[in-house]
Amino acid sequence: MALIVQKYGGTSVGSIERIKAVAERVARVRAGGDQVVVVVSAMAGETNRLFKLAAQLSDSPHPREADVLVATGEQVSAALLAIRLQALGYPTVSFLAHQLRLATDSRHGNAKIRSVEASRLIEALAAGHIAVVAGYQGVDPKGDITTLGRGASDLTAVALAAALKADACEIYTDVEGVFTADPNICPRARKLGRISYDEMMEMAGLGAKVLQLRSVELARRYNVPLVVRSSFSEAAGTWVGQEDKSMEEVMVSGVTLDQNQSKITIAGVADRPGLAARIFGPIAEAGMVVDMIIQNASADGRTDLTFTVGRDDLRGALELCRLMAAEISAAGVRHEEQVAKVSIVGLGMRTHAGVAARMFRVLADEGINIQMIATSEIKISVVVNAKYGELAMRALHDALLGKGSNATSAESV
Ligand code: ADP
Ligand code: ASP
Ligand code: MG
Repeated sequence: MALIVQKYGGTSVGSIERIKAVAERVARVRAGGDQVVVVVSAMAGETNRLFKLAAQLSDSPHPREADVLVATGEQVSAALLAIRLQALGYPTVSFLAHQLRLATDSRHGNAKIRSVEASRLIEALAAGHIAVVAGYQGVDPKGDITTLGRGASDLTAVALAAALKADACEIYTDVEGVFTADPNICPRARKLGRISYDEMMEMAGLGAKVLQLRSVELARRYNVPLVVRSSFSEAAGTWVGQEDKSMEEVMVSGVTLDQNQSKITIAGVADRPGLAARIFGPIAEAGMVVDMIIQNASADGRTDLTFTVGRDDLRGALELCRLMAAEISAAGVRHEEQVAKVSIVGLGMRTHAGVAARMFRVLADEGINIQMIATSEIKISVVVNAKYGELAMRALHDALLGKGSNATSAESV
């Protein structure tokens, strides 16, 4: 008898018909003798709908109340799935975060999990019940509802799988696994049989929302065997796990696109120690994540500092930058609201040179201008004009990962 945690995303529970189909799938596993904990997301589009309702009432809804509101989406789908499983004759019990003491800090909208009490789940499973858990939500030390960040039902599933030492954590979604690029943008993307935690973390952090970043981090920390599969088919999915030798042979595993980036330049900053700290300190304190940064010295001893932020943070970051620019007598602040970050990820880049040059050549051949470049051990990212993001992704995918490309395997270097 195995203990399986299954997570179903928004599309998978997006309608009554879909909930019935999910219930059949869960019932089959239970009927086979395994214990099942199911984590559900809100029905497709529901979380956005709820955020939009709040936005009609206030420009800045209080995060505590926003969490009370948006956490209802998962409550609805948990109850509906439990009702259906019971109707099929399977004893089932649903749980919200406070009932499992899924404890978080108080950072509403992006709370961090501190601990999970598995005892109620263990009791339910021991009694032969299926447990259905509302994803995405937690409870803070005051007992208030929190949410864990967009897409974080994945995180709930991994946290429960870790706490229960589950045999597997299965993430069911609307694609058949992790692909070499988003299959909805790149028609030639291929499904990967497996991928390392490290590569998956890079891909998730760089825009492949098939898995939420923190869920992969947690899976790696607790060595949770993770598989991404489709709830619409029986196809084998993608395993995410520890790397092994053969994975290093693959130079590029995936191409990602993040279209939700903006670029800010503070022009004419004096070339003096401490100024970068002065600029980025307040931005970090405000909880905004600065991503790529470049600094260019200009002829008159002043420098231009350019960096990217998530588009949601643009307004706040610009306000801070304008204040700071005045304080440090910089020449001014410019911004570009819509830029795209396109990245290639692969363990083999650690040991093989020449990938960056190849990437830049592909973009040059498409006439796409590179605005910024950043590299780490296993990834190379470039910022381009947003309108070329998808084109860049497809071109890179087909050149580096498409059929007949010779950059995918280390032997061909
Ligand atoms: P869910 O609602 O099930 O959590 P998400 O929308 O969060 O599903 O994630 C699935 C989506 O991730 C897919 O529909 C696909 O468009 C997108 N995606 C982006 N990059 C990739 C990739 N490399 N492989 C698979 N899917 C990807
Ligand atoms: N419903 C939440 C969201 O849309 C969490 C999730 O789907 O994982 O972000
Ligand atoms: Mg998701």
